Amino acid sequence: MTFEEIGLHELVLEGLSCMGFEKATPIQEQAIPEVLKGRDIIGCAQTGTGKTAAFVLPILNKILEKDYKNTSTLIIVPTRELALQIDQQIQGLAYFTGATSICLYGGGKAGDWKEQKKAMDQGVDIIIATPGKLISHLIMKSINVSTIENLIFDEADRMLDMGFYEDICRIISFLPEKRQNLMFSATMPPKIRDLAKRFLTNPFEVSIEISKPSEGVLQAAYLTFDNQKTPLISSLIKGKDEYKSILIFTSTKRKVNDIVRSLRGNNFEVKGISSDLEQQEREDVLMAFTTKKVRVLVATDVISRGIDIKDINLVINYDVPGNPADYVHRIGRTARADTTGVAITLINPDDMYKFRNIETLIENEVPKVKLPEVLGDGPEWRKTSSKGKNNNGGRKKFQGKKKFYGKKKH
Ligand code: AMP
Repeated sequence: MTFEEIGLHELVLEGLSCMGFEKATPIQEQAIPEVLKGRDIIGCAQTGTGKTAAFVLPILNKILEKDYKNTSTLIIVPTRELALQIDQQIQGLAYFTGATSICLYGGGKAGDWKEQKKAMDQGVDIIIATPGKLISHLIMKSINVSTIENLIFDEADRMLDMGFYEDICRIISFLPEKRQNLMFSATMPPKIRDLAKRFLTNPFEVSIEISKPSEGVLQAAYLTFDNQKTPLISSLIKGKDEYKSILIFTSTKRKVNDIVRSLRGNNFEVKGISSDLEQQEREDVLMAFTTKKVRVLVATDVISRGIDIKDINLVINYDVPGNPADYVHRIGRTARADTTGVAITLINPDDMYKFRNIETLIENEVPKVKLPEVLGDGPEWRKTSSKGKNNNGGRKKFQGKKKFYGKKKH
């Protein structure tokens, strides 16, 4: 379906044509007409499906038609990276509409607030905010949300995982009751349904398949011991010019630094990104990677969701993510929008049970590739848990402790 057929405003169509969007993606096709009718939406879609434009486009349409005089739209997101990315898409799509937007997140530059306050006093149309920052402004009464008519939650599941439930309820208590609510989440666990029940009115449900990686991703896995991982990565990427942009995911900040150090030792151009970096440093690293000044980026899951870096040719999972949906998010960084890409996962004996859970979720067995001979033998693949152990490979006692309920620094 084309955007003309959906019936968007001419000035919105102009923005779309400049961005080169010709056809609506499935989530856009389903959600936009309902948002235009004024309905609340609950959308289950992962990043890469075009979900940002699915809410930005009809909201821009509404802003043009209603000609609001004050801030009308609040977008709440889990991380500042996602806030900035949404803001960028708004700037492109809204170019001809005159609609304005600002981002509010923790850890910005000194002096940002002055500019943001000025924008709000002038009636900026759209505020994109992380919950923590927004709540502190609301408490200090330094922001007025009494004119908000459109509320959007993006990556709602991640916000709840990060412990933002109370903050979200509190933020909503400051908003006018009469408003349109759009909630997007990559997964739809019961806690998201509960949140939707609490704050959405008779929502229209849109669900885009989330458990399967995009078909353009070629997936493979290596069974390795930890000391074989870095030499394996080096052999996978050395002299392979077709891998121009490589993203390596790992689960901890400490490992990011270790991997960066060892790859640099092997003369690769590599940078790391995690929540340890200041906001400006994170932006600089992302910029160096997106502009291809740096070939390899090592990251924690902070950037696996929501962040849109084009043309990544190879994603390497240095370790297996504990949450199977994170696997889909991580490898979704490659093969975006009809391109192809490769996703390689390194599995040590402790991670085999996690990888089996992933294969169950994606309903597919990922081929296990033999290690290059020089690296010696890797561990044997265990299709099921070893006898006498529980299903988590004997790690049951750690289960409760591993779960994180507090707020993370993002
Ligand atoms: P998202 O799922 O919102 O993170 O979007 C993923 C990528 O798809 C972004 O780079 C968007 O610019 C792009 N995109 C969104 N909608 C379309 C469309 N209708 N046609 C082409 N690209 C799109």
